[in-house]
Amino acid sequence: MTTSEQLFEKAKTLIPGGVNSPVRAFRAVGGTPLFIKSAKGPYVYDEDGRQYIELINSWGPMILGHAFEPVEKAVREAIQHSFSFGAPTRKEVEMAELIIDMVPSVEKVRMVNSGTEATMAAIRVARGFTGRDKIIKFEGCYHGHGDSFLIAAGSGAVTMGIPDSPGVTKATAADTLTAPYNNLAAVEVLLDNNQNQVAALILEPVVGNMGCVLPEPGFLEGLRDLCDKHGVVLIFDEVMTGFRLAKGGAQERFGVVPDMTTMGKIIGGGMPVGAYGGRKEIMDVVSPAGPVYQAGTLSGNPIAMSAGLAMLHHLNDHPDVYTQLDQIGEKLTAGFRAGLQKAGLNYTINHISSMFTLFMTERPVTNFAEAKSCDLPLFGRYFHAMLKRGVYLAPSQFESLFLSTVLTDDLIQQVIQANEESLLEAV
Ligand code: PLP
Repeated sequence: MTTSEQLFEKAKTLIPGGVNSPVRAFRAVGGTPLFIKSAKGPYVYDEDGRQYIELINSWGPMILGHAFEPVEKAVREAIQHSFSFGAPTRKEVEMAELIIDMVPSVEKVRMVNSGTEATMAAIRVARGFTGRDKIIKFEGCYHGHGDSFLIAAGSGAVTMGIPDSPGVTKATAADTLTAPYNNLAAVEVLLDNNQNQVAALILEPVVGNMGCVLPEPGFLEGLRDLCDKHGVVLIFDEVMTGFRLAKGGAQERFGVVPDMTTMGKIIGGGMPVGAYGGRKEIMDVVSPAGPVYQAGTLSGNPIAMSAGLAMLHHLNDHPDVYTQLDQIGEKLTAGFRAGLQKAGLNYTINHISSMFTLFMTERPVTNFAEAKSCDLPLFGRYFHAMLKRGVYLAPSQFESLFLSTVLTDDLIQQVIQANEESLLEAV
């Protein structure tokens, strides 16, 4: 038995399913999850001392590789002043100023501790601001584990086969309307049928949670117009895309500015941080400026702020990071496409900058239904073939991979080689 196997057996007796977040359990791909002991740069190391090239990067945050020195240094410095005060700090002011500077839609911002908190708060604020109850989300988008979002949810929820979770009340579910991604007409019908009832429309402007799915040309612009027409708060959930697709996220890259934005992952440099922000007039309904309540004992935690600030300052000061990520993504996906061609396979790769997914289907993937038509057992075999060759992918077809700046040409070649061999082994 490996150490990971031993730990997993014990964990299952102590923690539901042996993990603290479902998709980590390798349910979709079979086998035992790796128990990770440490990570540095482009590599993670498991409890059995094996080294893997990272293409998950903690599901997004480690965009500059693991244990990025300026972040590590900032945390070391911060812990000398105690770990939490539950009182305002200078760093929170600096963080708010930096986020507002970087993210086009954000005029005011509130810090929280996770992406889930950010999205839950954002829809409450939108409801408070508009006085309406319903929200629209897209099938296959994942916005954390808040009740309102566990309707046709992607990511771990669909990986576990529970896109509609038990435990969500019928009333909550009734207030969440869903439409297929990239389908403007369906959104228009929902808005026409629910006049003056929809508070917010929330989406991943580039989806990571049904695998990587891009907005079709005009989709984001069309949603912007529909929300304006119907007085609906447009929320971009940029927990994955924020500070990744550009320093101002997908909204900068696509030139479409939402009313509110939710953020997470990179914003904390690996620490538990989330944030939501938007237009001043909307954010000013948040307590204590306004009546919509939202709070947090550890929100704006000084250690987490220090890590996040070091990360965001670096990204803000080095725009070349995004050119570099674009190039790394280009090289890797070109190699993957060549590998598919060599193997005589015609599977779909969706890609933008440092996010991509190899879908085990020959059809284009533009929405949830198409993502779900993939050959999942084949993905499982491919995943394990890659793992055996030292490449650590997300253990589910319904996830994007996240590249980091520390993937050198040499490492990219190793991953491309592993992909070629793994495809041949898996099919
Ligand atoms: N929104 C999106 C787009 C996400 O990808 C995630 C998590 O993967 C969340 C929200 C929830 O964030 P967290 O897991 O930090 O609660």
